[in-house]
Amino acid sequence: MFPLKHLSVSSVQLYLTCHAAWKARYIDRLVMPSNPPMAFGKAFHAALEAEHRGENSERALIAAWNAGDADLTASGQTLRPGKAHALALLDEYKARGLGGKLGEPERKFMLRLLTPSVPVMVLGYIDLVVPERRRFREFKTTSAATWTYTKIALERQLAVYGRAYQELYHHRVDCAEYVIFRTDIVQVDVIEAVPSAHGFRLFELEAEAMWQGVTAGNFEGCGRQNCAVCRLHVDRVPAGPDVTWGEKFA
Ligand SMILES: [Zn+2]
Repeated sequence: MFPLKHLSVSSVQLYLTCHAAWKARYIDRLVMPSNPPMAFGKAFHAALEAEHRGENSERALIAAWNAGDADLTASGQTLRPGKAHALALLDEYKARGLGGKLGEPERKFMLRLLTPSVPVMVLGYIDLVVPERRRFREFKTTSAATWTYTKIALERQLAVYGRAYQELYHHRVDCAEYVIFRTDIVQVDVIEAVPSAHGFRLFELEAEAMWQGVTAGNFEGCGRQNCAVCRLHVDRVPAGPDVTWGEKFA
C-alpha cells in the first residue's frame, strides 16, 4: 500500500471527479503543466500573504508575477493578466480597507475526521485567519462572475476550513469572507458565508468514499473530454500498425 499520509479538500474532490486524474497527481506524482490562470492565482496569493504579514505587497506581487511569467515562458505561454492589472486589483483591495498587517496568513491546519473509516488527517492552509474577528478569508482569482453566494455556500472548503478554524481557536467562526479578484476587469468582491456542520458531514462522507476507492485500487478514468488526464489518454492511443485489408484478412 502506498503511503498516503493525509488528505486535502482538493484531493478528495479530485478523486470524486476522476479517479485516474487523482492517481496521476497523488500516486504517479505527475505534475500538470501550469497555465496563466493558475500562475496568476499563485502570484496574487503571494502578494496578499505579504500584505497581511505587513510587508511590501507591491514588491512581492511584481517578484511573484515575474517568477510566474518566467515559468510559463518555458512552455511558450505568457502570464495574464499583466502586472498593471494585478497592481490595480491590489490597490482596490487596499482602497476597500481590506489590506494591512492582519491575522495569520497561510494558516496551516491538520484536522482529524470524526469517522474512523478514514485513518489519516486532512491537511490544509487557510489563506488568512483573523481570530480576533472570528473570521477567515479565502482569496479567489477568476476571469468571470463564476463565484456566487450559492457556489460558496456549497463549497466543501468552506465547511472543512470552518471546522479546522474551530479546532484551532476553540470558538466558532462567525463568518468566512471569500474575496474574489476579477482578472477580466478591475473588481474585488467580498462574499460572506457561514460554514455549516452539514457541509462538513458531507465532506466526511466523500472522504470515506474516496478512501474506500483508493484502498480498493479503483483508479478508473472519468472519460470526460474536458478531463486533462482522460483526454491525454485518448490523445495517446496509438494509431496501431498499418494494416492493409489484404493482410488483415489473410
Ligand atoms: Zn478523467
